Amino acid sequence: MSLRKIHENGHTYFRLYIRCPVCLDRGKKDVPVRYWTHYDNNCHGDIYIGDDANFKCIKCGLVSHVENWKYSCPDHSGSSDEFVGASAAALAEAVSTAGQLVTEAGLEWLQKVLENLKRRGACGTL
Ligand SMILES: [Zn+2]
Ligand SMILES: [Zn+2]
Repeated sequence: MSLRKIHENGHTYFRLYIRCPVCLDRGKKDVPVRYWTHYDNNCHGDIYIGDDANFKCIKCGLVSHVENWKYSCPDHSGSSDEFVGASAAALAEAVSTAGQLVTEAGLEWLQKVLENLKRRGACGTL
């Protein structure tokens, strides 16, 4: 089944289907590829990723750069619902190794995401 996709303001967004970037940051490479949903305010909307390196929640409409989000998954959070931020490097790895997403979105789309990740990183506080 192909991933859902939307076009908005000149950007293409795909349903986010990646390994957990926090787990990648912690060296856990064998975690499964997962769909992600928005947890703030019990939204539970589906998260999409755009070539502008933003995540968008399809339900409440929140759009924010990927580095602003925190992630919870059964592998690093257990039963505690622990939300943790991820590094730009881990996010880049999670997206560029997401087989189905990259196959469907194409290399041009992936390159735009990675460029927009980098651009943000250059203006960061690290
Ligand atoms: Zn995780
Ligand atoms: Zn939402």
